[in-house]
Amino acid sequence: MTSSKSGTRAKATKEPAKAPAKAPGAAEAAAKEPAEAAGGAKAGRTAKVAKSTGSAKAAKEAKVSEAVKVPKGESHLALVRRARRINRELAEVYPYAHPELDFRNPFELLVATVLSAQTTDLRVNQTTPALFAAYPTPEDMAAAVPEEMEELIRPTGFFRAKTKSLLGLSAALRDDFGGEVPDRLEDLVKLPGVGRKTANVVLGNAYGVPGITVDTHFGRLVRRWKWTDEEDPVKVEAVVADIFPKSEWTMLSHRVIFHGRRICHSRKPACGACPIAPLCPSYGEGETDPEKARKLLKYEMGGYPGQRLSPPPDFPGKPAPALGAA
Ligand code: SF4
Repeated sequence: MTSSKSGTRAKATKEPAKAPAKAPGAAEAAAKEPAEAAGGAKAGRTAKVAKSTGSAKAAKEAKVSEAVKVPKGESHLALVRRARRINRELAEVYPYAHPELDFRNPFELLVATVLSAQTTDLRVNQTTPALFAAYPTPEDMAAAVPEEMEELIRPTGFFRAKTKSLLGLSAALRDDFGGEVPDRLEDLVKLPGVGRKTANVVLGNAYGVPGITVDTHFGRLVRRWKWTDEEDPVKVEAVVADIFPKSEWTMLSHRVIFHGRRICHSRKPACGACPIAPLCPSYGEGETDPEKARKLLKYEMGGYPGQRLSPPPDFPGKPAPALGAA
């Protein structure tokens, strides 16, 4: 869909002025709300007060805060509140956040997610139409001639290993799950080539089961935001799961990944065009000049096509081109 640019884009490009003159440390962000400037001891007191006053909400927040690893200088409670505020801001910036792999059913999402390792979702989306035309079901894919499948998925890289995974997981779906993709994490991770990240993508987006997707963008951003300093995706997932209610997990994942792809890039984060700069302890890691930062924006933020050839109807950017198209 190529509808008019939404207020979202306007927000992302007009609000960099919110970025502070100097990098906002976590303590500064917390200082915006006195309650958030509390130290760890105060968070403990908050828990006691919550219990004594019987405030269910405060007790819940205090309980969550106690489970979160605290970056230096910021209380548990302040971190939780700042993280949740970042999520709310991102929800305003990307109200249309969505999985960026094209799929029409759980099987296609599973296959596309396996193919997305070490390549872009765009390249996967440009590759899968021919693949699914040739092998629309697990039974069809399990019976594929390996060399023919390799040629079809060659553009995604590591095509021999990926072919092996797809043949294995298709055969497992056919033989062990009646040709259906299972909807339980413990079943999904037993499939060849399917790890926790892939399983969570399928659960969250094909079955509506809340899941946190810790990919390279998600891990990088939550570390920049000092939600955690963990590198291990499973540990990152556990920390973030303690900060947010389950109902937010799937959309939070999309929003964070959207932000990582569009603004908070790996090498050149566009800090000067970042709507959440006041909440980010890493502001200044990238370009802070608003004009220069705006030139770094990608996809619909920068006026370029998105990753999906078939984006959701509310997507404000242009669909991606087919493989080989201009
Ligand atoms: S672009 Fe990234 S590092 Fe820079 S302010 Fe935004 S979230 Fe922080």
